[in-house]
Amino acid sequence: MNGDENGEEQAWSGMGLICVHQRLSLFHSYPFVSELLAVPCPEGMGFGRVWVWAMRGDGAYNVGMAKVRSNSAFERLTDRLSRLPGIGRRSAQRIAFYLLKASTEEAEALAEAVLAFKREQKVCGECGNVTESDPCAICADADRDGGQVLVVEQPSDVASLEQTGVYGGVYHVLMGRLAPLEGVGPGELNIERLVARVRGGKVREVILGTNPTLEGDGTALYLAEQLESMGVKVTRLARGIPTGSLLAGASKAVLSDAIQSRHGMGDG
Ligand SMILES: [Zn+2]
Repeated sequence: MNGDENGEEQAWSGMGLICVHQRLSLFHSYPFVSELLAVPCPEGMGFGRVWVWAMRGDGAYNVGMAKVRSNSAFERLTDRLSRLPGIGRRSAQRIAFYLLKASTEEAEALAEAVLAFKREQKVCGECGNVTESDPCAICADADRDGGQVLVVEQPSDVASLEQTGVYGGVYHVLMGRLAPLEGVGPGELNIERLVARVRGGKVREVILGTNPTLEGDGTALYLAEQLESMGVKVTRLARGIPTGSLLAGASKAVLSDAIQSRHGMGDG
């Protein structure tokens, strides 16, 4: 596999690096193949190249490139998986290997769960939350205060806040936070709809509930700048010492937040 010209492929002919599918089976059945690394093949090309690291029983090893077909089932799956957020090429391959060993029933259950999710889950046109109805149950609830909008990063944040049972307003889900280094700008988030809701005139207060992280704070600052000029009251969720914890265990940042966010004993 060190090139066709120098004839070195003879020493490694047992590997038969022809297609990705074949590499897969070799990975499992030949102990001298210690690790295989694939790099993405260019989209739309019938062939791509992979880097291959192989080791023989006598300790000799070889690193080279092999030409592979990029449209095998393995490549198609790893290509799809590596498009998912947080899944790199290596993770995609690990998942593919797992599915290779899994039962057909398990693979079918996964595929069916993905399809059912796409069929049944909707995004609320009002708040952007993931829901099974549009508008979602919270937006459709006439007993909730539509004048108070709590802005959060993820649907899971809505679920956490709802568990408290103390909030009677509605929500707005951004589906992320501003992260310029990852290429997430205002256009990638559900911000335009939030501005439209405020422009609609029914919103009295926007509560910024993005996470108290560098990026969450940056997102809150950006939103505050956008919204305050529109004459709506903009507040930020308080931060401080978690209930049930000790001052001695709190970090400097938490303690300084707690001092700055202090409130009167009767304010709740
Ligand atoms: Zn909604």
